[in-house]
Amino acid sequence: MTKKQRRMTKQKRVILDVLRSTTSHPTADWIYNEAKKILPNLSLGTVYRNLKNLKDEGKILELSYGSTYSRFDGNPENHYHCVCVECGKVMDLDMPVEKELDKKAQKALGCPIFYHRLEFYGLCPHCEKNKVNN
Ligand code: ZN
Ligand code: MN
Repeated sequence: MTKKQRRMTKQKRVILDVLRSTTSHPTADWIYNEAKKILPNLSLGTVYRNLKNLKDEGKILELSYGSTYSRFDGNPENHYHCVCVECGKVMDLDMPVEKELDKKAQKALGCPIFYHRLEFYGLCPHCEKNKVNN
Protein backbone atom coordinates (compact mmCIF):
# COMPACT_ATOMS: atom_id res chain seq x y z
CA MET A 1 0.00 0.00 0.00
CA THR A 2 1.35 3.46 -0.91
CA LYS A 3 1.49 6.33 1.54
CA LYS A 4 -1.19 8.14 -0.41
CA GLN A 5 -3.68 5.28 -0.12
CA ARG A 6 -2.97 4.91 3.58
CA ARG A 7 -3.60 8.61 4.14
CA MET A 8 -6.89 8.34 2.23
CA THR A 9 -7.96 5.45 4.43
CA LYS A 10 -7.24 7.45 7.56
CA GLN A 11 -9.25 10.41 6.29
CA LYS A 12 -12.12 8.16 5.39
CA ARG A 13 -12.11 6.55 8.83
CA VAL A 14 -12.07 9.93 10.60
CA ILE A 15 -14.97 11.16 8.45
CA LEU A 16 -16.94 8.01 9.22
CA ASP A 17 -16.16 8.29 12.96
CA VAL A 18 -17.28 11.93 13.01
CA LEU A 19 -20.52 11.05 11.26
CA ARG A 20 -21.20 8.11 13.58
CA SER A 21 -20.57 10.27 16.65
CA THR A 22 -23.70 12.37 16.02
CA THR A 23 -27.41 11.78 15.48
CA SER A 24 -27.89 15.25 13.98
CA HIS A 25 -27.73 14.18 10.29
CA PRO A 26 -25.10 16.83 9.51
CA THR A 27 -24.18 18.53 6.24
CA ALA A 28 -20.79 17.95 4.55
CA ASP A 29 -19.70 21.37 5.88
CA TRP A 30 -20.35 20.35 9.48
CA ILE A 31 -18.49 17.05 9.00
CA TYR A 32 -15.61 18.97 7.42
CA ASN A 33 -15.33 21.34 10.39
CA GLU A 34 -15.40 18.49 12.93
CA ALA A 35 -12.96 16.25 11.02
CA LYS A 36 -10.60 19.22 10.57
CA LYS A 37 -10.09 19.29 14.36
CA ILE A 38 -8.49 15.83 14.01
CA LEU A 39 -6.93 16.28 10.55
CA PRO A 40 -6.01 19.97 10.19
CA ASN A 41 -4.90 19.59 6.55
CA LEU A 42 -8.20 18.12 5.42
CA SER A 43 -9.91 19.80 2.45
CA LEU A 44 -13.63 20.10 1.81
CA GLY A 45 -13.19 18.33 -1.54
CA THR A 46 -11.69 15.33 0.24
CA VAL A 47 -14.68 15.23 2.58
CA TYR A 48 -17.09 15.25 -0.36
CA ARG A 49 -15.10 12.53 -2.16
CA ASN A 50 -14.97 10.27 0.90
CA LEU A 51 -18.65 10.81 1.69
CA LYS A 52 -19.46 9.68 -1.85
CA ASN A 53 -17.23 6.59 -1.45
CA LEU A 54 -18.77 5.71 1.93
CA LYS A 55 -22.22 6.08 0.42
CA ASP A 56 -21.30 3.87 -2.55
CA GLU A 57 -19.96 1.27 -0.10
CA GLY A 58 -23.26 1.31 1.79
CA LYS A 59 -21.68 2.51 5.04
CA ILE A 60 -23.66 5.75 5.27
CA LEU A 61 -26.86 7.29 3.90
CA GLU A 62 -27.18 10.53 1.96
CA LEU A 63 -30.46 12.30 2.63
CA SER A 64 -31.23 14.85 -0.07
CA TYR A 65 -33.99 17.37 0.44
CA GLY A 66 -34.42 19.02 -2.95
CA SER A 67 -32.90 22.47 -3.08
CA THR A 68 -31.19 22.38 0.33
CA TYR A 69 -27.84 20.76 1.14
CA SER A 70 -27.65 16.99 1.50
CA ARG A 71 -27.55 15.63 5.03
CA PHE A 72 -25.57 12.52 5.94
CA ASP A 73 -26.47 9.66 8.26
CA GLY A 74 -23.98 7.29 9.90
CA ASN A 75 -26.71 4.67 10.19
CA PRO A 76 -26.90 2.92 6.79
CA GLU A 77 -29.97 0.84 7.65
CA ASN A 78 -33.22 2.08 6.12
CA HIS A 79 -35.16 4.06 8.72
CA TYR A 80 -37.68 6.88 8.75
CA HIS A 81 -36.99 10.54 9.41
CA CYS A 82 -39.05 13.52 10.41
CA VAL A 83 -37.97 16.96 9.21
CA CYS A 84 -38.90 20.01 11.29
CA VAL A 85 -40.62 22.48 8.95
CA GLU A 86 -39.47 25.41 11.12
CA CYS A 87 -35.74 24.79 11.70
CA GLY A 88 -34.91 21.94 9.31
CA LYS A 89 -33.80 19.56 12.07
CA VAL A 90 -33.80 15.93 10.87
CA MET A 91 -34.94 13.47 13.54
CA ASP A 92 -34.80 9.66 13.56
CA LEU A 93 -38.14 7.96 13.99
CA ASP A 94 -38.16 5.00 16.36
CA MET A 95 -40.56 2.85 14.38
CA PRO A 96 -40.07 -0.17 12.10
CA VAL A 97 -39.87 0.23 8.32
CA GLU A 98 -43.17 -0.97 6.80
CA LYS A 99 -42.06 -3.78 4.50
CA GLU A 100 -45.71 -4.27 3.50
CA LEU A 101 -45.53 -0.95 1.68
CA ASP A 102 -42.95 -2.38 -0.74
CA LYS A 103 -45.28 -5.28 -1.53
CA LYS A 104 -48.22 -2.94 -2.08
CA ALA A 105 -46.15 -0.70 -4.35
CA GLN A 106 -44.86 -3.73 -6.24
CA LYS A 107 -48.41 -4.91 -6.80
CA ALA A 108 -49.53 -1.47 -7.96
CA LEU A 109 -46.58 -1.04 -10.29
CA GLY A 110 -46.14 -4.62 -11.47
CA CYS A 111 -42.37 -4.25 -11.27
CA PRO A 112 -39.86 -5.20 -8.55
CA ILE A 113 -39.58 -2.78 -5.61
CA PHE A 114 -36.51 -3.04 -3.40
CA TYR A 115 -37.08 -0.44 -0.68
CA HIS A 116 -38.78 2.85 0.00
CA ARG A 117 -37.78 6.10 1.62
CA LEU A 118 -40.32 7.97 3.66
CA GLU A 119 -40.03 11.45 5.18
CA PHE A 120 -42.39 12.91 7.71
CA TYR A 121 -42.75 16.66 8.17
CA GLY A 122 -43.69 18.25 11.47
CA LEU A 123 -42.21 20.21 14.36
CA CYS A 124 -39.23 19.30 16.54
CA PRO A 125 -39.82 19.53 20.34
CA HIS A 126 -37.95 22.86 20.48
CA CYS A 127 -40.03 24.53 17.75
CA GLU A 128 -43.24 23.08 19.14
CA LYS A 129 -42.46 24.72 22.49
CA ASN A 130 -41.78 28.07 20.80
CA LYS A 131 -45.11 27.89 18.95
CA VAL A 132 -47.01 27.29 22.17
CA ASN A 133 -45.26 30.16 23.94
CA ASN A 134 -45.91 32.72 21.17
ZN1 ZN B 1 -37.45 22.71 14.78
MN1 MN C 1 -31.25 8.83 10.61
